[in-house]
Amino acid sequence: MTSTPNFNRADSAVRIVSLYPDLLGTYGDGGNALVLSRRLEWRGIAVEHISVDAGAPIPDSADLYLVGGGEDGPQVQAARELELSQGLHRAVDKGAVVLAICAGMQILGHRFPDATGTSRGGLGLLDCETVRVNRPRAVGELLTTNARLTTTHGLIELGPLTGFENHAGRTVPGSNGVSLGSVEVGEGNGDSSEGVVTGTVVGTYLHGPALARNPRLADALLEWIVGPTAMTPLDDGDVNALRAERIHAAQEHELAPRRSWRDILRRS
Ligand code: GLN
Repeated sequence: MTSTPNFNRADSAVRIVSLYPDLLGTYGDGGNALVLSRRLEWRGIAVEHISVDAGAPIPDSADLYLVGGGEDGPQVQAARELELSQGLHRAVDKGAVVLAICAGMQILGHRFPDATGTSRGGLGLLDCETVRVNRPRAVGELLTTNARLTTTHGLIELGPLTGFENHAGRTVPGSNGVSLGSVEVGEGNGDSSEGVVTGTVVGTYLHGPALARNPRLADALLEWIVGPTAMTPLDDGDVNALRAERIHAAQEHELAPRRSWRDILRRS
């Protein structure tokens, strides 16, 4: 029998679970756990982080769950395992915060396409549905405006969100799923919105890893858990300078011309 990976349970520690890094976690999404852990430690807040591979039982006692992006095949397997386990469902019922990137967002919705384009049942934790459309993959820089998150402590303005995207699916938020922001550069959900938020579950197409490029998003997720008074300010001068460069380059299309590989190959 597989034992449940579990926490040491220092009572005040923030508990973070990276789910299925063996299946999901392309483009450095695993770095999101590192960013959250460091930003807690820098504030003197204890953190316990564990990774749970597919097939292992999922502890439902954590504060924050991270689900990464991935390819179509592993994505289907991850959805099946998460559905079987129900550990993530129980954690969300108890109020846990979830950040799901790209494939992670897609499988947490109601439906998503597999590698053949056939629609599969998702976990229903995010109010959205992902479909396959007859358009090139969305590949390149992704920049949003008006990004905001409403937590139990109120509305948090996130400023521009920056990252990159690589996905074939397009995501349609449902009537109970609000988007995370509006697209300024790139594709996002495909309807000029980006990301989906349902209750404490946050989905986004931003890779990068997303939280390294967007510390305000990292802090908003942490504030949800520890409350605003614990969120002492950190010096983000260096990261803000890098963000300004990235944002400018995306706006000027210096980083990623919006051409698909199909266009590039056709012209060469
Ligand atoms: N396989 C999914 C798609 O292509 C998600 C890709 C990803 O997570 N980067 O739409």
